Amino acid sequence: MPKCSVLIIEDEKNIQTFMGKVLKRHDYRVLYADTGTLGLELIRSQCPDIILLDLGLPDMNGDDLIREVRTWSSTPIIVISARTAEREKVIALDLGADDYITKPFGTSELLARIRASLRHSNRLHTDSSLYIRPYKHGGMTLDFSKRLLRINNDEVHLTPVEYKIVAYLAQNSGKVITYSTLLSNVWGPYADGDNKILRVNMANIRRKIEDDPAQPKYIFTEVGVGYRMAEDEDE
Ligand code: CA
Repeated sequence: MPKCSVLIIEDEKNIQTFMGKVLKRHDYRVLYADTGTLGLELIRSQCPDIILLDLGLPDMNGDDLIREVRTWSSTPIIVISARTAEREKVIALDLGADDYITKPFGTSELLARIRASLRHSNRLHTDSSLYIRPYKHGGMTLDFSKRLLRINNDEVHLTPVEYKIVAYLAQNSGKVITYSTLLSNVWGPYADGDNKILRVNMANIRRKIEDDPAQPKYIFTEVGVGYRMAEDEDE
């Protein structure tokens, strides 16, 4: 099987080097660009399997790069972002980035984000929408064909809206989903932008599925951004 290729678009040399070493050690082929212009050139000529993108580049804004790439490519993009920049992350995700990772980050987090994004993009290309195998993590299984959620073998009763929320997060497990993406996928394109209805439903869901809703094991809050469901274990 050919190696997966990762393009790192990042002007900070130490972060570039750190990521490059980790990825090579885990058998990825690594390409580097320290400007947006070179990044775009490599995306066109090398067709990387995944792109790691710093938003603050010397020659262009990372958002503009995402917007440009999304006009012709669905290659997964993971944004590398500063800790305090929640709004920046949400904008990047809503423009079509797949996920983000916050500096400083560790090796296992980086690899997990890459795996989740690659898995998701492979699934989009290979899975028929008629059959999606169950999601599984820890004591949770979600059978999409039966719309059946079990925690430690006990059936959990969800309202239709709660089910839609959990199912959407499970189908995108391991990836962050913004509030606005979740709202429009559950309530449709005319959903109002109010997150309150989402928070209320999430509180009810957590009461039903988590041992301790304040310390969730299945659905995590990404403050100011959205939710992330624990990665499916069956891969
Ligand atoms: Ca930078």
